[in-house]
This record gives sequence, C-alpha cells and structure tokens, in this order.
Amino acid sequence: MPVRLPFRPRRDAYPPDLWTKCPGPSCGEMLFNKQLDKTLRVCPHCGHHFRISGRARIDQLLDQGSFVERDADLTPVDSLAFVDSKPYTDRLVAAQLQTGLRDAAIWGLGLLAGKPVSICVLDFFFMGGSMGSVVGEKVARAGEAALENRIPLLIVSSSGGARMQEGTYSLMQLVKTMGVVERVKAARVPFISVMTDPTTGGTFASFAAVGDVNLAEPNALIRFAGDRVSAGTIGEELPPGYARAEFWVRHGFVDRIVPRSKLRDEIAALLSFLTVQADVAPEGAAGTGFSPRSFLSALTGALSGEGSGGIGSPTNGTATNGTNGESRLGAGQKVEEPRG
Ligand SMILES: [Zn+2]
Repeated sequence: MPVRLPFRPRRDAYPPDLWTKCPGPSCGEMLFNKQLDKTLRVCPHCGHHFRISGRARIDQLLDQGSFVERDADLTPVDSLAFVDSKPYTDRLVAAQLQTGLRDAAIWGLGLLAGKPVSICVLDFFFMGGSMGSVVGEKVARAGEAALENRIPLLIVSSSGGARMQEGTYSLMQLVKTMGVVERVKAARVPFISVMTDPTTGGTFASFAAVGDVNLAEPNALIRFAGDRVSAGTIGEELPPGYARAEFWVRHGFVDRIVPRSKLRDEIAALLSFLTVQADVAPEGAAGTGFSPRSFLSALTGALSGEGSGGIGSPTNGTATNGTNGESRLGAGQKVEEPRG
C-alpha cells in the first residue's frame, strides 16, 4: 500500500522536462509539455511560437511517412582548425550528440498534401542553425533536386546566419545557395520560403528572403544584423518592432504571416496555385539567371508582336511574358497581397 505523504511537492519542484514556462511577453504560463506538443508547440494562452527541431517541422508539414531523407551523413569539416573559446570540432560533437544530426540542416523529398516537394529544413538547435558548408550544400542539393524532378522547392529557415567557425567557407554558401535558387527560378520551378524564429544574418541575406512566396511564423525575428549594427549602417534610429515578421509583412517583404497550425494547409493551397509547367525550360536553359540579352530579346519580340522568340536566342523561355527572374506565378495566379 503506497504511503500518502501529508504534503504536496512544491510548485517549482516539477521535473524540468515536464513543464515549460512560456516566455511570451505578459504570459509566463506554465505549460504541460505533452499538451504543448499537441498544440505544435504553440502556447494556447498567448500564441507564442516555440522554436522546434527540424525533424518536428518535417513531421508537421509533410504527409506521414512520405519523407525520404537525403545526405543524412554529410558531415562538416574543420578546414580552418578553428578555435574560439573552444575548438570547432568540440562544438560540432556536442551539437551532434545533443540533436542526433550531423549538421544543422535536413533535406529530402516528400509529399505535402499528396504533392511532391523537395524540402530543406534548418534546425536552430544545432549551433543556432548556422549555415556552414554542409547547410549550404544541403540547401543547394534540395534546389538541384527540385530542378531535376521539376517539383516545388520548400525551405524552412531557422538560423542565426553564417557559421563563424567556417569563416569564408561559410560566406561562400550565400553565393552557392543563391546560384541554385536563381536556377530554380529561371526554370520556373516554384520556391516557397518559410521564415521562422529566427531568420537572420546570412540565411536572411541569401535564399530565405527570395521565395516566390515568402511566409513567416507570427512574431518571428527576421533581420540581417543586430539593432546597433543596423542603426549604425543606415545612420538612423530603427522603428520599433522592425525586426519582426509583422513589420515585414506591412512593408511587403513577407507575403503572409501564417500560424503554425495553418502552415501546412497554407503551403498545400499555394502548391495548388503554383503549378510546375513541364514544357517551359529546355535542357541547359536552367543555368541562366537574369540575362540582359534574353530579356532584351524577349522585349523586342513582344514589341514586334511576335508570340515568342524575337531576335537572338532567348535561353530560358521568357519571351512569352518577359518576367525573367521575377515571380514564377502564372497569369491570373495572384496569390495574395501584403496587408496594410
Ligand atoms: Zn504564452
């Protein structure tokens, strides 16, 4: 027979993994973790969106059991033998043990509401989701798979930016990822970018901000640099709340803020608008981003009343509407307008 003690445990003596205190401003509720998992780790009282792991994100977005991960064993290399307060290799091992990942990105192919997508998700819990050579490579490979299979590219960002420990190798990822993203766009394959808390630094300055549709989670921190650096650069005081998703949507930088519970449905709806046309990009044309020559050819063709072609040889099928490098929405497929 169990002995009943005449007192209850102190309120602050719960096991630490049982409860989470909501950090939302003016909230502070103690949330039961199992309940929090059921609400996709969104506070039921104030709507605060907790950060979630890359795996959890994939589970929430894709059809159950449809995800096939690629390059899970891609592992970072400490090319610079970098040491700050501790060696980079030690930081990597600690993060790998903590998250079960080799690096801060997961990519693969899967189905979202029955539609195939190439998806890459960044994981903030692995060294702040920072973009080193492996993260950049995975983003690039996700883009290349989208190109090859002509299926939409979906990238969910959650990153503090470039990985300082990889120095210039890290900065080179901005160019590499943008190169692939531009090819995806030139080939008229849709790219949906989801910015979650936080999307800052090098990810913000490269692929995260250039989706055909840019979605964001509520109150997500989105910016390039910290307040002091940003204010110093432009020599002005920054407006309050400038680094939050709500500010960016008012200024047309983010297309829509979508609560986590609606994110999957929202992307599914977008995928049904953003259809991939099979006949647009001929082989070899995908390698060109914005090309002044083909743009001018397209313009000449349009002005001279030709349906397509024009002088020279337009290389990426832009002659029909001349929107090279811009949104991949077809005519009449306006998805949404920024509010405000
Ligand atoms: Zn809360």
